[in-house]
Amino acid sequence: MAQKNLEGYVGFASLPNQVYRKSVKRGFEFTLMVVGESGLGKSTLINSLFLTDLYSGEYPGPSNRIKKTVQVEQSKVLMKEGGVQLLLSIVDTPGFGDAVDNSNCWQPVIDHIDSKFEDYLNAESRVNRRQMPDSRVHCCLYFIAPSGHGLKPLDIEFMKRLHEKVNIIPLIAKADTLTPEECQQFKKQIMREILEHKIKIYEFPETDDEEENKIVKTIKDRLPLAVVGSNTIIEANGKKVRGRQYPWGVAEVENGDHCDFTLLRNMLIRTHMQDLKDVTNNVHYENYRSRKLAAVTCNGIDNNKAKGQLTKSPLAQMEEERREHVTKMKKMEMEMEQVFEMKVKEKVQKLKDSEGELQRRHEQMKKNLEAQHKELEERRRQFEEERSTWETQQRILEQQKMTLEKNKKKGKIF
Ligand code: GDP
Repeated sequence: MAQKNLEGYVGFASLPNQVYRKSVKRGFEFTLMVVGESGLGKSTLINSLFLTDLYSGEYPGPSNRIKKTVQVEQSKVLMKEGGVQLLLSIVDTPGFGDAVDNSNCWQPVIDHIDSKFEDYLNAESRVNRRQMPDSRVHCCLYFIAPSGHGLKPLDIEFMKRLHEKVNIIPLIAKADTLTPEECQQFKKQIMREILEHKIKIYEFPETDDEEENKIVKTIKDRLPLAVVGSNTIIEANGKKVRGRQYPWGVAEVENGDHCDFTLLRNMLIRTHMQDLKDVTNNVHYENYRSRKLAAVTCNGIDNNKAKGQLTKSPLAQMEEERREHVTKMKKMEMEMEQVFEMKVKEKVQKLKDSEGELQRRHEQMKKNLEAQHKELEERRRQFEEERSTWETQQRILEQQKMTLEKNKKKGKIF
C-alpha cells in the first residue's frame, strides 16, 4: 500500500457545514472505491478529482499493473489544505468484469468491504477507542460503460449485491464519447432500470440549507452523473483547463455544460463527504454489526463461521419475516378453506343421505299403505261376497219361510 503526501487545492477544507471541529483537528479519513471494467477511465478520474497524479508513469493505475483477475488494491494519499488534513484512500478493483465469465467477480469487493467493517468492529470493542482508524469504504463510484444500451447484467448484479453495504453512486464513464442527446437518453434508461431492479443507490439527503438543496436537486436530476477525466491540461478559449483535445474541439472536464464532473467533485469533497461517512456508519456498518450480532447471539455461538456471513440487513430480514408471515397466514387460510370445504361436503353428503333415507322410508310407507289398502280391499271384497252369500241365503230362507207359512195356512184349511 502506498501513501503519497500532496498539497494541492481541492476544496475539502472550505465548507464549514461538513467540517466538524473535531474533524478539523483530527483530519478526515475518507475511503473511496472505484469499480468498473478496466479502461473506463477510473484512474484518470481519480487523478482529475483530486488534482493529483495519484497514478502516474512511475506509479501507474491498478488496471495497468495487475492482470485479469479481480483484486482489491488500496492506495492512500494525505492531502493538506488550510490546516485540514484529508487522508484519502482509493480502493480500486482491477480486473472487475474483464473475464469471460464474470460470475462472482463482486465477491472480492464484498469481502473487502466486510473485512473493513470487521476491523472497525474489532477496534470498537477494544477498551481504548480514542484512536480508532476508520478504513471503512464510504463511497463506491460505479463506472457504467458509455454503450448507450443500458446496464449490463453484471452492472445490475453488482449493484444489487452491494447496495446494502456501501453508498453507490453510478457514473457514466467517458461521457465525451456520447452526444448530449444520447447521454440524456442513456441516463433516463439507466435510472429506469435502477428503479425496475430496485437498486438502492446513495440517496442525497435534503438539508435545511436552500442552496445545498438546489445542488442536491440538480444532482438528483442528473443521475447517473456523466463524467469525463483527463490527465492533461490544455488550452481552451485562452484558459488552461483539464480536458480532452479532439480535432473538433475540447471536452472540458470541469465545464458543467460538457459533463457532470464538477457536480460530482463538489458533492464528494465539499457537500456530502460527511453524509457519506454518516450513512456508512449509521446504516451500512450498523447493518453489518447487527447481522453479525444476530449470528453470534443465535444459539450463543458464532454462526458466522459455520454458515458463512449472513448477507441480509435487518430491514431485509424484517421483510423476509413479513413475507414468511404472509405465506404462513396464506397457508393457514388455505387449510381453513380446505377444512371448511370438507365440512360443507360432509354436510351436503349427510343431507343427501338423510334425504335418501327419507325417500326410502317414504317409499316403504307408501308400499305398506298400498299393501294395507290391498288387504282391506280384499277383506272388503270377501265381506261383500259373504254379505251377498248371506243375503242370498237370507232370501232363500225367506222364501222357504214364506212357503212354509203358506203351506201351514193351507194345512189349516185342509
Ligand atoms: P482504468 O483502467 O479504468 O483505470 O482507465 P484509465 O484511467 O487507465 O483510462 C483508460 C483509457 O481511457 C486511457 O487511454 C485514458 O486516456 C482514457 N480515458 C480516461 N478517461 C476518459 C474519458 O473521460 N473520456 C475518454 N474519451 N477517454 C478517457
